Amino acid sequence: SARIAGHALSWAAAQFRDRPAVVFRDRSYSYAQIEGRSNQLANALVGLGLAPGERLAVLLDNSVQSIESQFGAEKAAQVYVALNARHTVREQAAILNDAGASVLIAGADFQESVQQVRLLVPSLRAVIGVGWHDAHVLDYDALLARASDRAPGLRVPADLLLRIAYTSGTTGQPKGVAYSIERFEARLANHFGAMEYGLGVDDAMLHVGPLTHAAGVHLLPCYLRGARNIVADRFDPEQVLVQIASDRISQLMVVPTMLGRLLETLAATPAADLSALRRVHYGTAPTPAPMVHEALERLGPILRQQYGMTEAVQPLCVLYPHEHLQDGRPSERIGSCGRPTLNVGITVRDADGRPVPAGEVGEIAIAHRGIGEVAFWNRPDLERESIRDGWYYSGDLGRFDDEGFLYIVGRNKDMMISGGFNVYAREVEDAVQAHPAVAEVAVLGLPDAEWGEVVAAFVVRRPGQAIDADLLSRHCAELIAGYKKPRVIEFVDALPRNHAGKVTKNDLREVYLARHA
Ligand code: ATP
Ligand code: MG
Repeated sequence: SARIAGHALSWAAAQFRDRPAVVFRDRSYSYAQIEGRSNQLANALVGLGLAPGERLAVLLDNSVQSIESQFGAEKAAQVYVALNARHTVREQAAILNDAGASVLIAGADFQESVQQVRLLVPSLRAVIGVGWHDAHVLDYDALLARASDRAPGLRVPADLLLRIAYTSGTTGQPKGVAYSIERFEARLANHFGAMEYGLGVDDAMLHVGPLTHAAGVHLLPCYLRGARNIVADRFDPEQVLVQIASDRISQLMVVPTMLGRLLETLAATPAADLSALRRVHYGTAPTPAPMVHEALERLGPILRQQYGMTEAVQPLCVLYPHEHLQDGRPSERIGSCGRPTLNVGITVRDADGRPVPAGEVGEIAIAHRGIGEVAFWNRPDLERESIRDGWYYSGDLGRFDDEGFLYIVGRNKDMMISGGFNVYAREVEDAVQAHPAVAEVAVLGLPDAEWGEVVAAFVVRRPGQAIDADLLSRHCAELIAGYKKPRVIEFVDALPRNHAGKVTKNDLREVYLARHA
């Protein structure tokens, strides 16, 4: 079967023509304008002689061009690949080579790295600079100016890939996940099915994370419902509060670190006008329960948690706003990521692949309903290893409660075996985090001759708070069993995080071990 590339985007533009689609740095672009510019880019790409299915990579900070590139790639039937702005040249080149990218669209801030990247990636036939060009780099604006703004309307096979999305690389090398349009649309249907927030033309969503990655998951749903997408350069909690009031922001998506900073800022600005805000979506990493409690108090019952992963349809689970409450009080379910969404099956399994009963911890295994299995790009080895009988073994650990709410306990790489006992990082992190002087904590296992592994906690203190390892250790003793108590407690200024806001525990471990070698 065949399809017209980029049809849904043109449909949205026809519905919402002159309404504002994207607002970036005080400039507003209507649906018709984004459509026209994305069409121009698509026609320019076709004009470069790119065949359907070639890979187009982008290295762009948040910008209107970042959105046009996603849309333009789809309309030109190019497979969209987002690079991570915070990666090194070598890491970026590795992804470009893995994807076999033909074209790279790169922002002016990346000029230097692009010059190095091109030497390492023989498949690259063209580089397009946004806000810059030279003898070997084409100028984005000039390309668009010469191209037609009519939709190319390419007829392409239905199973042509739309995207290769790379995982965040929290536990190792990023893995490429292959999305056909069918899969992407199933994902979108799932997303719409998992919404209860009545998204529509009166909504304004503030995007504060990188649009090319997890922060972009709400872009398309907003787009297809005619909402305004307000794009921020970066996350700035004070600015967020200003914008909520001045731009009447109704939807906001944050990762846990951002939520923590937003709450701190809010504590210092109690008069902030939040009246426009209807939903705060949070997730992508474990959110400490005390933080959710504080958010509930300060923001009201408008919190919605999402659990998802690059490999699967999004979101996998949702904890809805009403599920944060129980008889008008904070619910005991806070800490759960909710129940599975429409198109996914989730089971929790033991090491032999048998589902475990509610209450027991096991590996979270996922099956899609109505679409095929999880599919990787170029990685049959990963598919063989991680997919059994159609179930994808995610590497996340969790347990269900009696009513089907899922609790994420950590990643299996985060489970430590200390003196023969299983210790889950999340449980220890929650205990440490419960101390009011603790701003952030990451718990991991360190190799140990006697115990196999010992539990280590890396702790960031709240500003102005004094707490030492002794006190913290005694605090933990009141909350968790002795064998779970961190034996190593290190105070650090900040935790290393990747672009997705997730703590890179391997970096912490390496630095610690190198220092104590
Ligand atoms: P990699 O797979 O390359 O190591 P990654 O798993 O961080 O990196 P992503 O696909 O961006 O890459 O993230 C998905 C993971 O994020 C999930 O498997 C889970 O571990 C974590 N996660 C996502 N949402 C939540 C949530 N609501 N609560 C707890 N953890 C979450
Ligand atoms: Mg992962």
